[in-house]
Amino acid sequence: MQAEMEPLLRVEGVSRRFGGLLAVNGLDLTVQPGEIFGLIGPNGAGKSTTFNVISGFLAPSSGTVQLSGRTLPGGKAGTASKAGLVRTFQHGSYVRSMSVRDNIRLGTLARIAPGQRTGKVREAAALLGLTEMLDEIAGSLPHGLQRLVSIAIAIASAPKLLCLDEPLTGLNETEVATVLQVLDDYRKTNGRAILLVEHNMKAVMSICDRIHVLHHGEFLAAGTPAEIQGNPAVIEAYLGNAHAT
Ligand code: ADP
Ligand code: MG
Repeated sequence: MQAEMEPLLRVEGVSRRFGGLLAVNGLDLTVQPGEIFGLIGPNGAGKSTTFNVISGFLAPSSGTVQLSGRTLPGGKAGTASKAGLVRTFQHGSYVRSMSVRDNIRLGTLARIAPGQRTGKVREAAALLGLTEMLDEIAGSLPHGLQRLVSIAIAIASAPKLLCLDEPLTGLNETEVATVLQVLDDYRKTNGRAILLVEHNMKAVMSICDRIHVLHHGEFLAAGTPAEIQGNPAVIEAYLGNAHAT
């Protein structure tokens, strides 16, 4: 069944060069509706660059990104987010000086009709346990809560493909459990999917349906969590040194 579905995301032959450095080389991947797809690999493997290209923050040097069969123009983040492809950044994606409420409201602007924005803000805040903090200034919150604000902003736009770059960094166990539950629920709703870059291997292995491993910008392996955990090349390049939790 699943193999016959039109992929939500199709990345074909994507490369990105920075001067002499080939940060991502000929990447192919597809994400199906309903999936949580993990992208893992050591620091410098090209994960964030891949996210930047997929979400239109960087143009690819070559290759294409398609959302539901439509090719996105390279390097146009506004077009990608309007089309339903939204991402968070590794170091957080919110405005420090604004309230949590106004931050989450920013997330609704691209895709949510004006009359529905207040409800969406409330809903996203509730999902991430931020209801009590809506009037706080985002930058004044503890680090973990700031990270949850970034996720709430992304979710408030109701993206088809939610791309999260290391969303669990700095979260305590309770917050990790909250986020994993939110993500698992999110992808179950009509044709959505999640692309997850994350170093917390326990979380990745528990929540992802499929995983793709990058190493020095190159494809190293793809498979289910069990296949990836048992792959000698992956253990050698990454899992042997990765954080165990
Ligand atoms: P990861 O997210 O897997 O840690 P990155 O995609 O951030 O890896 O980086 C991949 C490689 O590309 C690294 O060698 C990094 O230094 C380089 N790189 C990333 N962004 C830029 C940039 N804007 N300019 C130059 N080099 C970059
Ligand atoms: Mg990164």
